[in-house]
Amino acid sequence: MNKITILGSGTSTGVPILGCKCRVCQSNDQRNKRLRSSILLETSGAKTILVDASPDLRTQLLTTKTQTLDAVIITHDHADHTHGMDDVRPYTFGRSEPLPVFTDAHSSESLTQKFPYIFQRDKIYAHKPIIGGGIPLMDLKVIEEEKNIIEGEEFHFYSLPHGHGDSLSFHHKKLGYIIDCREVPETIIKSFRDAQLDVLIIDCLRYTPHQTHLHLDLTLNYINQIAPKTAVLTHMGHDFDYVDLISQLCSRNIKNVFPAIDGQSFLYS
Ligand SMILES: [Zn+2]
Ligand SMILES: [Zn+2]
Repeated sequence: MNKITILGSGTSTGVPILGCKCRVCQSNDQRNKRLRSSILLETSGAKTILVDASPDLRTQLLTTKTQTLDAVIITHDHADHTHGMDDVRPYTFGRSEPLPVFTDAHSSESLTQKFPYIFQRDKIYAHKPIIGGGIPLMDLKVIEEEKNIIEGEEFHFYSLPHGHGDSLSFHHKKLGYIIDCREVPETIIKSFRDAQLDVLIIDCLRYTPHQTHLHLDLTLNYINQIAPKTAVLTHMGHDFDYVDLISQLCSRNIKNVFPAIDGQSFLYS
């Protein structure tokens, strides 16, 4: 079996939001504590693949006691998915080859500009030595086709609209991951449905519609069409109290959809 762990189930601010006095942000329920969005895949082929480098990454990978990373996938270049990039650095210590970081062409360009000391290191250090603690040995790999083999594992990637750009969603075997997006086009819904998913992790920001994210009714509509065995709501904001949301789902007689809890793992074939 393969394992997916939710490293963080929160929206870009995390929950609680700094300075917010709302009931959810002030709640003592650990299930309302949401770090920024990242997941970890541990495959049956013994590969460990990180999806997104949230600003909370160090805390998250200490919690999972992750020893090595074989690859990183970045879904898009927004801060809540990339600003933990430097926390990947210890996993590159002692590597002879750079750690591959897979993303689309736009995010590859953007990450090169945001992190020149990592992704333009040959240029920056061409005429001066690297001194001190060293820099992360990582290389960007641009995803151009739907089907990609990453460390021997087959992934199918899809670009979904998110704000002014796109965000990558994917399925790996019977896991689907649909993160930050405004909508999921019909053809992509079909690809996810055809994958006959054990687990679908899917964007669900809040109860009411949003310009760049899915909201509860739209997320549930997509889950219904994709028909995974289990669906897990993620990228959640402070509108969602865990217990209230579970009650909402129960009152609608929905039995296979759960709000994510940070640190929770699911197995998939
Ligand atoms: Zn996000
Ligand atoms: Zn709040």
